Amino acid sequence: MNVEYIAEGFREWLPALTEKALEAYRRAISWRNFLVGCAVLASKKGEGYKIFAGANCKTEKNGYPICAEQVAIMATVAEGYDRIHYIVVVGKAQKDESGVLRETLHPCAKCRQILSDIITKKVDSDILDFNTILVMKDPESEK
Ligand SMILES: [Zn+2]
Repeated sequence: MNVEYIAEGFREWLPALTEKALEAYRRAISWRNFLVGCAVLASKKGEGYKIFAGANCKTEKNGYPICAEQVAIMATVAEGYDRIHYIVVVGKAQKDESGVLRETLHPCAKCRQILSDIITKKVDSDILDFNTILVMKDPESEK
């Protein structure tokens, strides 16, 4: 596992988040085998913590992509979980659509915008900034 960053207090959640992200990864849909799984740890008042997972989906070259991060984050929105604590994203090192080899997966510009919009509206300022996003590569080695 290539752990790019582990935030304070994150280690205890890492195994469960990684497992959920890997499950989602195995369900991802991609016309070119660019598979990504994501797990988000979120909470809401009176309900405690819950993990939400998302898988990416792009069925054809000219189709509209949906990123794993977007799916997971929107699931927190749908269920009213208004505090996002940590995010795990898994995927293999591979070339992106412009042919550049990505050794680690980083959220795309759209996902970063969504994270910024959602997080700044939903989350207390002490919880999440982009440094708490954890990215790992080669989920095949995690089996
Ligand atoms: Zn994205």
